[in-house]
Amino acid sequence: LLGDDGRARPTIFAEMSALAAATGALNLGQGFPDEDGPAEVLEEARAAIASGINQYPPGLGMPVLREAVSSHQSRFYGLEVDPDREVLVTAGATEALAATLLAFVDRGDEVVTLEPVYDSYAAVIALAAGRHVPVPLTAPDFRADPDALRAAVTDRTRIILLNSPHNPTGAMLDPAFLDLAIELAHRHDALVVTDEVYEHLVFDGRRHVPAATRPGAHGRVISISSAGKTFSTTGWKIGWITAAPELRDAVLAVKQFLTYVNGAPFQPAVARGLALPDSYFLDAASTLQHKRDLLSDGLRAAGFTVSRPSGSYFVIADAAPLGITDAERFCRLLPELAGVVGVPLTAFVHPDRRAPYRSSVRFAFCKRVEVLEEAARRLADAT
Ligand code: PMP
Ligand code: GLN
Repeated sequence: LLGDDGRARPTIFAEMSALAAATGALNLGQGFPDEDGPAEVLEEARAAIASGINQYPPGLGMPVLREAVSSHQSRFYGLEVDPDREVLVTAGATEALAATLLAFVDRGDEVVTLEPVYDSYAAVIALAAGRHVPVPLTAPDFRADPDALRAAVTDRTRIILLNSPHNPTGAMLDPAFLDLAIELAHRHDALVVTDEVYEHLVFDGRRHVPAATRPGAHGRVISISSAGKTFSTTGWKIGWITAAPELRDAVLAVKQFLTYVNGAPFQPAVARGLALPDSYFLDAASTLQHKRDLLSDGLRAAGFTVSRPSGSYFVIADAAPLGITDAERFCRLLPELAGVVGVPLTAFVHPDRRAPYRSSVRFAFCKRVEVLEEAARRLADAT
């Protein structure tokens, strides 16, 4: 976690946003929207502050939010979740992931992930002194291979940590893969932990399927999500887990000494968001799908080979057709060359396993249409 100079290394996202700020380039690196989310949600936070919701909320999270999470799981997925015994509010999905891994992973326990992998997973596995066992996702479609999962999960596995829709590739897991993960978790006495922060940002008429809805999930699956992506409030850091009571309590035991509680006035605001009509969620997805297509077309016109993400904020563009073999170097030069920032895909891969990903870049399309159009123009001019 420390650099060679002994100082904390910035995350790849902080580094890329700093590069964008320093060069004035368009920031398609860090995944955050450049527009505010729904007015009702923002207004609810202002009202909560004005009405004095500014002190420590309850350790489990405010009842209004836990009830809203429960209703959301019922409305979208037909799941019954007890708001008092099966929900825990966390400081974003980031804390939910950290508290869950720290709760269950002991020294040497193995955690299976899909690689390329979101940066905090590897870091928290290391903090827990666990061993990271990756299942590779490979171009062009980044599909998860069931045989690779079978090979990765053993009696040493403590957690199978899945992420769908997936950051950075935008791939989604199909129900059969979720079923296999649950079956393997039963066989090897492991848990399935699912990071579903992009659950509402899915395209082309797809539906997100939580592992918690699949057979055998009860008591084996811990589901994690967050308000950041769904309501364009990434700075609020309101997330949650849902899980059977004994699992929820184990995560609570850690969470209470990480942050204790978080984000009091944002909790009723997120509750308001979770209760928005279906049309809000559908519109958010279709607006983002349009942005995906806009940026993908632009990247293709500029000469990249472009993946087709099923969900998330991100598209993977392979720069090999442009003669690029080292996307890390390319991404450092891109602000100068084209006034655009992207993240090399290798940033999501362990240094020993980077070879298949060397020429690819992750671009975020959760930006205003004008920004995406301008990025497409600049990339076309530069290549
Ligand atoms: N998991 C994934 C896959 C993410 O992409 C992100 C953030 N973009 C997080 C977790 C962290 O979510 P939060 O901001 O709610 O902590
Ligand atoms: N999840 C966001 C991304 O993938 C960034 C979050 C962060 O900066 N840690 O770009």
